[in-house]
Amino acid sequence: MNEARIFDRRRLLLILSLLLLAGFFATTLFGYFVSKQAIRDAIVGQDLPLTASNIYSEIQKDLVRPVLISSTMAQDTFVRDWVLKGESNVDEIARYLREVKQRYGAFSSFFVSDKSAIYYTSAGILKRVSTSDPRDAWYFRVRDMKQEYETNVDPDLANADALTIFINYRVYDFSGNYIGATGIGLTVDAVRRLITDYQQRFQRTIYFVDARGQVVVFGNQTGRAQDLRSAPGLGPLVDHILQKKTGSFQFAANGANHILHVNYLPELKWYLFVEQNEDVALAGIRRTLYFNLAISLAVTLIVLFLTHRVLSRYQRGIEEMAATDKLTGLLNRHAFTILIDKLIAEYRRTPQPIAMLLADIDHFKEINDRHGHVVGDQVLSAVAGHLTGGLRKSDIAVRWGGEEFLLVLRNCDHAEAYRIAENLRQKLAETPIRADGRQVPVTISIGISEYGGAESPDLTVNRADAALYAAKNGGRNRVEPAPEQEAT
Ligand code: GH3
Ligand code: MG
Ligand code: MG
Repeated sequence: MNEARIFDRRRLLLILSLLLLAGFFATTLFGYFVSKQAIRDAIVGQDLPLTASNIYSEIQKDLVRPVLISSTMAQDTFVRDWVLKGESNVDEIARYLREVKQRYGAFSSFFVSDKSAIYYTSAGILKRVSTSDPRDAWYFRVRDMKQEYETNVDPDLANADALTIFINYRVYDFSGNYIGATGIGLTVDAVRRLITDYQQRFQRTIYFVDARGQVVVFGNQTGRAQDLRSAPGLGPLVDHILQKKTGSFQFAANGANHILHVNYLPELKWYLFVEQNEDVALAGIRRTLYFNLAISLAVTLIVLFLTHRVLSRYQRGIEEMAATDKLTGLLNRHAFTILIDKLIAEYRRTPQPIAMLLADIDHFKEINDRHGHVVGDQVLSAVAGHLTGGLRKSDIAVRWGGEEFLLVLRNCDHAEAYRIAENLRQKLAETPIRADGRQVPVTISIGISEYGGAESPDLTVNRADAALYAAKNGGRNRVEPAPEQEAT
């Protein structure tokens, strides 16, 4: 009965699933993008600037004061006088440097004389600076630079190479001639701890960049090469950033979006870079997104499954209702017209004789008249039961008309059909039907024909009908075969 589709279930399910999925995906994705934007806004507007300003205030405490101290040293008349007097007493300058160091809690203090190239520390003479020693390059840079001072991170020669920030101040004599460099060095543990903490807690990359675009190593590790211009994604932006000095920037690197906040620290002539890998920040909501999508998919599948089941049952019910006769439970005539095509196709594949038996209750009108319609109906359904009682699974029984029934017997030749029809007729005639407490004697007449492939099935039924007419004429309660059909 698959041919008789009341509605297209597959299409309905497809539309339903598209609607469900579209709805779910739209709301889920919309939520995701809204959250994503909110997180990005928070990173750009609050998180990174806050980190930067916290670090900045820590830097101010740690570094800005040393700049002032170094400035004072460069201006100190004692230092200048001592140099002009010929650097004769090393103890004097050593004591001076020791006092500065102790008073201000510096890690080291120094003076390098340009004339003698001697590097003095609080302990006396450390060494002579030389243009051939790369570790002395800082001094010659300071000697030649235009600014008053620079801030430089270097391992401290005088302190077992501990990483130290040096404030290198140029010193002039009273007529403005350059005579050397002085300043203090200090470890930056507090700043370093803060930066390391931020890096670990928020997975941010924090570092300083000098005016030349060189990365100043500060935290535990920056993940950035020395030359920022060679950094993937960020490199091409460096000049633009250094020129803008402060602001928020974005760049893509290694398949992830990075948000960058930059602050210029004028006292140090450094830029503070705070980077956040957006993918890391979005990992949480991305997990939620996948989870929601999975749930949406599961709900869609469940709804589809349930709908499919309900529809199937409903459709089967409707189809059964449309195909069967209510009173007898047999197929109705309409269903048979649909089945016929299947029958013909089957016959073409394997031509086996198909017998058609058209049975009609004799004088049924009288039964109705005598016993009433209710009994008539009961008789009809009893006869239907009688006719289908001995059928095989492959046989088809149809309520053809009011009290007319068509039996279609597959793989059944003429002789066999006659035997079956005779048997049905005889059995019914022998046993009255019990209906409404009465015994109602009922007989049937049957016309038989055979479908041979050459004619249309309608014609076969017509020939059975003609045979039935002959049976009625012949006195009823009898079986009449149709004449053999002529071969065409
Ligand atoms: P014949 O031997 O020539 O077949 O005589 P008949 O009375 O059986 O033939 P006829 O075709 O004249 O009458 C058939 C009757 O069957 C007429 C109709 O009222 C009755 N009938 C048709 N359908 C039903 C039904 O569903 N229930 C009942 N109770 N009667 C029906
Ligand atoms: Mg009749
Ligand atoms: Mg009739």
